[in-house]
Amino acid sequence: MRDPRYDILFEPVRIGPVTAPNRFYQVPHCTGMGHRYPESEAALRGVKAEGGWGVVSTQETEIHATSDVSPSNQARLWDEQGVSALRLTVDAIHAHGSLAAVELVHNGLHAANRYSRVPPLAPSAVVVDSDDPMQARGMDRADIADFRRWHRDAALLAREIGFDIVYVYAGHDLTLLQHFLLKRYNYRTDEYGGSFENRLRLFREVLADTKEAVGDKCGIAIRLAVDELLGEDGLTHDGEGRDIVAALADEPDLWDVNLSDWANDSQTSRFSEEGFQEPYIGFVKSLTSKPVVGVGRYTSPDAMVRAIEKGVLDLIGAARPSISDPFLPNKIRDGRIDDIRECIGCNICVAGDRTRVPIRCTQNPTMGEEWRRGWHPEAIPPLDDKGPYLVVGGGPAGLEAARALARRGAEVVLAEAGTEWGGRVSRESRLPGLAAWARVRDWRLGQLRQSPNVRMYLESRLTADDILEHGSPHVVLATGATWRADGAGREHRTPLPFLAGRPVLTPDDLMTRGAGAIASPGAVVIFDDDRFYMGSVLAELAAGAGHETVFVTPAPVVAPWSENTLEQERIQKRLIGLGVGIVPLHGLAGLSEDRLRVECVYSGRTQEVDCGTLVAVTSRLPNGGLWEDLAARRDEREGAGIRSVTRIGDCLAPGLIAAACYSGHEFARSACA
Ligand code: ADP
Ligand code: SF4
Repeated sequence: MRDPRYDILFEPVRIGPVTAPNRFYQVPHCTGMGHRYPESEAALRGVKAEGGWGVVSTQETEIHATSDVSPSNQARLWDEQGVSALRLTVDAIHAHGSLAAVELVHNGLHAANRYSRVPPLAPSAVVVDSDDPMQARGMDRADIADFRRWHRDAALLAREIGFDIVYVYAGHDLTLLQHFLLKRYNYRTDEYGGSFENRLRLFREVLADTKEAVGDKCGIAIRLAVDELLGEDGLTHDGEGRDIVAALADEPDLWDVNLSDWANDSQTSRFSEEGFQEPYIGFVKSLTSKPVVGVGRYTSPDAMVRAIEKGVLDLIGAARPSISDPFLPNKIRDGRIDDIRECIGCNICVAGDRTRVPIRCTQNPTMGEEWRRGWHPEAIPPLDDKGPYLVVGGGPAGLEAARALARRGAEVVLAEAGTEWGGRVSRESRLPGLAAWARVRDWRLGQLRQSPNVRMYLESRLTADDILEHGSPHVVLATGATWRADGAGREHRTPLPFLAGRPVLTPDDLMTRGAGAIASPGAVVIFDDDRFYMGSVLAELAAGAGHETVFVTPAPVVAPWSENTLEQERIQKRLIGLGVGIVPLHGLAGLSEDRLRVECVYSGRTQEVDCGTLVAVTSRLPNGGLWEDLAARRDEREGAGIRSVTRIGDCLAPGLIAAACYSGHEFARSACA
């Protein structure tokens, strides 16, 4: 039964000529599926609608070949060729009674047009914002007229396809309409440049064009970055961002407001809290009578209701919370709050788009697999063979395998060596900024505890003898991995002899014992060859505990893979702010009592840094002992009644937490013996 406090979330909201059935609004977000995987895209959006999102939007939808962001894979409506793919999506959304929104976009100087090979367009002749060695051409009046026509034509096609809401999009520092608004890109001296009103002109015109073309049938939404977090160098919520809203106040049917660029809009939980955009977007409703949607990683219905009652939002926008749990609205509707699979704010979903593959999610292993594998986030077919399944290890892989097997009706025994559940997720969530990651454990534990067919044992380190004695027909090993202390990783492919026998610390040491593991005087050197979050988080831990800290990495910047989670700049800034010394482009060459010799990856030249404690963040070794022991005793397995032994997660191949959850889920889905 729904808690009446949440009734307000289920009120319909009028958006011009259409009405959203409730206040849950899946704002436009990338899926990496774009125009290349239309069935996948449609299935994903359809699941969101099924889960109760009253409005479901596309990702950005390029309106013309001059807006080509290849190899990034966005939706396309360059012409009629894009119609059939998008129709699949609209139909999938409408099948569940939700409204379908399309985010039309021209990417301006953000589009290097690598596929279409036409010169990029911008308000003025400027370099493109990618690394491509090319410039955009400043648009003349004929170009502006063309652009307006392309946008209008795309809007007409969108209406024909059946979209209910059409976007006019000026956000994320990647759209032509925003480029015209910004002094840093727009140096024009004609009626489209210079004064605020001139820079606003094109936005105003395209909004009017769109309303005139399709406003009879479609709600017209503005998506606007009201603050770029650049101070006077950009739009601000108390400067021109506000002025734009004031100028266009009631002209659109809906305001979708956020921060720019994407790294500001989709901040991770390491850097921001739920509702973090409210101080920036809170003013919008005071300037318009039209509904306002905004985002801020809202996963709690109380925070959603608060945002509405405070007068910040009319519709609760979500990208990531809807990825992590496509059924979030229905769970609130049905009074199943504890079943909500809350987003952990890790941005692995963003990394899919950034690495040019379909979306994936740490919390929701079915995300992106709705069509390719036919996986549904809530439904999973029952098993014929009820097991029992013995799952060894209670980290993300083991917890997810146990949960999904139990949902399939299997008998599950879950044994964990330690005194707590969660494995690496529990350990990592105690590191600076990563507390929300414990949700990976908490949601699964909550589900498991509701399952009568699961028995769970802590402090149960199983040996091969135990497993043979248990005689469960299916054994699933989810025993995790251990960080190496010998320096082997990407830069140094083999163990470093000079580290042998030295008291090198690993992330496991610091996660288990905290900063207290740093016993020696002198500087702490983090050698990070892992290149994602761990090295920088440990540097924060050490610096936060008052140690002089130096970060050495063979990479050119701190944590380069975190570019994919939009965190790299923030991470490097945070380390600089903490006074952490950064030595990029260096590997390890030697270690003495209190000096570490590091070597330039290009020249081989060495230098020495003070080093009281070396922390190696390089790579991990799978905890494969049990697997090997059981392999050696293959002959005894049959007699013990064991029919299958399978490794999952980090003990198979160490990787992301997302990969461990996926591995556990994949095992449970494919189990049918
Ligand atoms: P993954 O990411 O693959 O889930 P983790 O390292 O997070 O891996 O979790 C592995 C878990 O397995 C840890 O909590 C660890 O204590 C547990 N474990 C390892 N070996 C055994 C064992 N022999 N018996 C029971 N639990 C084990
Ligand atoms: Fe949230 Fe992480 Fe899933 Fe993205 S990948 S939706 S940030 S849990």
